[in-house]
Amino acid sequence: MASGRVLNGLSVDVEDWYQVGAFEKVIERDTWDKLPDRVSDNVVRILDMFAEADVKATFFTLGWVASRHGPLMRRITDAGHEMASHGWDHARVHGMDRRAFAEDLHRARTTLEDATGERVIGYRAPSFSIDQRTPWAYEVLAEQGYAYSSSVAPVVHDHYGWPKAPRFAFRPLDHNSLVEIPVTTAILGGRRVAAGGGGFFRVLPYAFSRWAIRQVNQHENRPAVFYFHPWEIDPDQPRVSNAPMRSRLRHYTNLHRMASKLEGLVRDFDWCRMDQIAHREAGRAQQVAA
Ligand SMILES: [Zn+2]
Repeated sequence: MASGRVLNGLSVDVEDWYQVGAFEKVIERDTWDKLPDRVSDNVVRILDMFAEADVKATFFTLGWVASRHGPLMRRITDAGHEMASHGWDHARVHGMDRRAFAEDLHRARTTLEDATGERVIGYRAPSFSIDQRTPWAYEVLAEQGYAYSSSVAPVVHDHYGWPKAPRFAFRPLDHNSLVEIPVTTAILGGRRVAAGGGGFFRVLPYAFSRWAIRQVNQHENRPAVFYFHPWEIDPDQPRVSNAPMRSRLRHYTNLHRMASKLEGLVRDFDWCRMDQIAHREAGRAQQVAA
């Protein structure tokens, strides 16, 4: 690592091609077990890429996936990566009440911890679904002993977003040290733009992401937080033809370029696990009422 460079948080949201929010209305949950499994091979490719680049990351994994892929979970943690929770089956937090959220969190975490033998202290809400509608969510996370969450996209987006949330790490509770680490946004023309992964990273030229992460590192002196999904490096995944055109466009654009783009990204910046980012950011995270 070059001296003086900022360490950024690298994360993978471990879910299969049929579990994404964009397809939830056309693929029923009770058919998931009948669909071709692609997540294992894709995660192994990601582990190889990370090993090659010598980077460690956090894998926010669905409990549903962990319950079917125990050895893969151990392979992730044996390689030195952090296992963290992405909830049980990708149900959005703002679609649950407090009790259902607590049960979802508990079920996922038990499964992840049983599979790996390691403690889970990080959480990422499916589809960044912690926002102004879920004032109880951080209290539940704190009650269950989570150290951090990375569940907020502080932008305007058609599927998610909490545009008024802070752009960098904050403490949502006054009685607990829980830290929320939003995914990265950059300021472009006075507006916040998503720059932490997802469709934007695949659709826009890599130069945009590189510019945005440099802005955040060099001008704001903060870590960037980046995420992607195993299905994004898989151009051969089955096509969901009855999904809305807009969802299909977003899901399938540039899948064949994603792996080489990611290789550039892991090479051009310094990366670490999200628990390390939470630890480093805890000291300067301001308390902000959620
Ligand atoms: Zn997800």
